[in-house]
Amino acid sequence: FPVERIRNFSIIAHIDHGKSTLADRLLEITGAIVTTEKNKQVLDKLQVERERGITVKAQTASLFYTHKGHRYLLNLIDTPGHVDFSYEVSRSISACQGVLLIVDANQGIQAQTVANFYLAFEAGLTIIPVINKIDLKNADPERVEAQIEKVFDIPREECIRISAKLGTNVDRVLQEVVERVPDDVFKALVFDSGFDHYRGVVANVAVFGGRVRKGDRIASAFLGKSYEVQELGLLRPHEQPTDGLYAGQVGYMVAGMKDVKEAQIGDTLYHQQHPVDALPGFKPAKAMVFAGMYPMDQSEYTGLRSAIDKLTLNDSSVTVQKDSSMALGAGWRLGFLGLLHMEVFNQRLEQEYNANVVVTAPTVPYKARLSSARLIKNRRATQENMLYIDEHRVMMKYIFPLNEIVVDFYDLLKSLSSGYASFDYENAGYQAADLIKMDILLNGKSVEELTMIVHRQRAYSMGKAMCERLKGSIPRQMFEIAVQAAIGSKVIARETIKPFRKNVLAKCYGGDITRKLKLLKRQAEGKKKMRRIGNIDVPKDAFINVLKRT
Ligand code: GDP
Ligand code: MG
Repeated sequence: FPVERIRNFSIIAHIDHGKSTLADRLLEITGAIVTTEKNKQVLDKLQVERERGITVKAQTASLFYTHKGHRYLLNLIDTPGHVDFSYEVSRSISACQGVLLIVDANQGIQAQTVANFYLAFEAGLTIIPVINKIDLKNADPERVEAQIEKVFDIPREECIRISAKLGTNVDRVLQEVVERVPDDVFKALVFDSGFDHYRGVVANVAVFGGRVRKGDRIASAFLGKSYEVQELGLLRPHEQPTDGLYAGQVGYMVAGMKDVKEAQIGDTLYHQQHPVDALPGFKPAKAMVFAGMYPMDQSEYTGLRSAIDKLTLNDSSVTVQKDSSMALGAGWRLGFLGLLHMEVFNQRLEQEYNANVVVTAPTVPYKARLSSARLIKNRRATQENMLYIDEHRVMMKYIFPLNEIVVDFYDLLKSLSSGYASFDYENAGYQAADLIKMDILLNGKSVEELTMIVHRQRAYSMGKAMCERLKGSIPRQMFEIAVQAAIGSKVIARETIKPFRKNVLAKCYGGDITRKLKLLKRQAEGKKKMRRIGNIDVPKDAFINVLKRT
């Protein structure tokens, strides 16, 4: 059924005003049930409903109705009138575009008439007032129409007078539903987005209601910007353009968005003239693992920046912040969802953009509360629960410091269990831990970019490893260099680099001035790749070696 031939509506009223009886007649005249004397509140299927003669549970029925030569699908939802069940009403209303508001021609507007009216009104639905039970001796439809006009500000001419019991004028109700209740409104969830050089943002969408066509003006719930749909289609798996996307379909859409951030994942799209409540989107992706990325050479900065920009357009879950390091120069600090995510990103930078990247050791976010003690009870992994899935499998839940699992935990687990164990994690929030700041010193001068936050128990082994790696990477110089790791003023590890004088001219016996100049130039070039910490020349490689994951 094309969306323009579908009407979703519900019947709302105060209790006993005749909703279920009207539903019976609608089912009969559309042929959904056979017309007999026995049809009494057929949608009240529950025993309790039959015994009490009231509707407790909203019920749905699909009706086919032909109007002016077209067949329509009418989805009818009968709702309970009693105040206790009004959540059923609001739920039903959220699935509809229109309501029949039934009012008893004798009793007039009652408490639940008003309450239900407002539910529908606030949801922006089309409201068709229906005056029921006009067959009653003391029916006073005129008076009730006046009430409706006064209380709900609906012109009295819009009311339909019926007798649900006798079936009087019930066909008119269906005609009004077809003519006045709008199509199901378009709403779609953006669940992925990418960037195409020529067309801009290509959003992948799941259509939850209505339809969208080329040329439609749409808007996004999150950013509130509006766009014209330029292209859409299905993914089979290659893009196959179509004229429209309909409820239940998943496809792609190009709408002149320039930046992937405009197609926020989890955002809701709708027709600009028919705003809808945002669909429950996804939790925004939260970066868990951070790493610095720097160009191998600063001359590649601009190129790397544009590569990172382009790649993040395709993956909006990566966070990017400018950063700079004394050793590595200008670069960025990127946030990823996990280590694999980071590796994939890095690999794509290298493979798809030919980038030469220095990636620093990944870190996890900490919240630091600076205090003289910084000393709160150490919390390592704590077991949360353990569940035997069957006799061979057990599910264990632990809370770990993220830092402990992010780097090599998974590999270790896999190898210990011969590949059988699987592992997943989610953020359990920040927890207090015994963390300390460890400095690396070259001849007593702190090397800022090597400063790290480590667990107190790890500090000694980490400090020692860092010093050893640095020693192996810094060439001997004219003087002795002390490489130290320290916590505060306390040195916890030390390596020494012995002095050595590398005289590039030593082999030049007088004479050849061009050769001499060439060698001096080469040495100067080598110096450019050095960083000066105090009076120590440190090759950039040294930092890379120490910072890089091994
Ligand atoms: P609901 O609570 O709104 O679903 O109301 P029901 O459809 O269960 O009807 C409540 C009572 O009103 C029942 O006894 C029906 O037979 C009666 N009723 C419903 N429509 C009419 C009508 O058009 N005329 C008369 N006389 N009685 C009606
Ligand atoms: Mg009922």
